[in-house]
Amino acid sequence: MSKNLIERLNEGPVLCAEGYLFAMERRGYLQAGAFVPEVVLEHPEVVSQLHREFIRAGSDIVQAFTYYGHREKLRIIGKEKLLEPLQKNALKIAKDSRDEFKDLDLLVCGDVANTNIYDPNDKKTNIECQKMFEEQVQWAKEAGVDFVVAETITWLDEMKIALKAIKDAGLIAVCNFSIKRDETTRDGHTPGDACKILEDNGADVVGLNCFRGPKMTMKLLPEIREKVSCHVAALPVPYRTTEKDPGFINQIDPGCDCIPGGNAFPVALDNLYCNRYEMAEFTKECVDKKINFIGICCGAEPHHVREMAVALGRKPISYKYYPDMSKHYALGTDPTLKHLNTDVAKTL
Ligand SMILES: [Zn+2]
Repeated sequence: MSKNLIERLNEGPVLCAEGYLFAMERRGYLQAGAFVPEVVLEHPEVVSQLHREFIRAGSDIVQAFTYYGHREKLRIIGKEKLLEPLQKNALKIAKDSRDEFKDLDLLVCGDVANTNIYDPNDKKTNIECQKMFEEQVQWAKEAGVDFVVAETITWLDEMKIALKAIKDAGLIAVCNFSIKRDETTRDGHTPGDACKILEDNGADVVGLNCFRGPKMTMKLLPEIREKVSCHVAALPVPYRTTEKDPGFINQIDPGCDCIPGGNAFPVALDNLYCNRYEMAEFTKECVDKKINFIGICCGAEPHHVREMAVALGRKPISYKYYPDMSKHYALGTDPTLKHLNTDVAKTL
């Protein structure tokens, strides 16, 4: 019998690659803007391949690509009838991907996110949110997921509705907030206070994902770690967001003046991209600070994930192709390389 998420976290860090929207948009299978994962129905093989690449890179978790495949997102593109098939297909693709790697002890999770209809002043929307979370959690449960993540939610009270839906279904709940510029939830709680309230409401893991890059995410983690006793999660976006603009939703690329509208989010963030080593540093700092559910959100690619796995002392499958510059024709040190080339490396 394999261990559940909490038992795994009790033993040490768990790595989770997510952020499929951006990866699919870059590959030409998903439209920026509405960001609806229709790709799970139109090109399931592409989703399977991304899962495969993340698993090979060391992700312990296969997160079903149900993110933003919820009722409100499908309504806005006029395809609400696709809701159930989309959700079920995403869950099946995740499980099938896990099953390709029988030797690895992978966990599959479902996912719910910000509904975009939640309004604290309109109780009717709370009931609508609850229904949206419940239907998704139910499909995830039927698919036999190991746990469910509620993520990129900015309101504590919306998160509480999501958490209740997950716990009522008898599942392990991971609750990750996205925190805006002023470092509070939209209902005015500090991340630490909001996470503590979730822990008191039964959350198994609490923390942060999306919105902020590694440094601006790390900035908020000590307060959470101090206030809760459960496991803490951190899954930043791999972009160099700053004190001035901590969220990737508002970013300027000073090196470029041809971005339509001037905002580099979401499709022109390339120049602000974190490299693999920056993500590895973030991973090590998480370990030092006892953050155990470590991952990466929008913008993630397998090379980041592999370096994060290596930072945890692991050798994932794709470690087979880990860089070895000693054999590079000009920069290498292998004794069989020609001096004709190595001697001029600095001039190239
Ligand atoms: Zn994200």
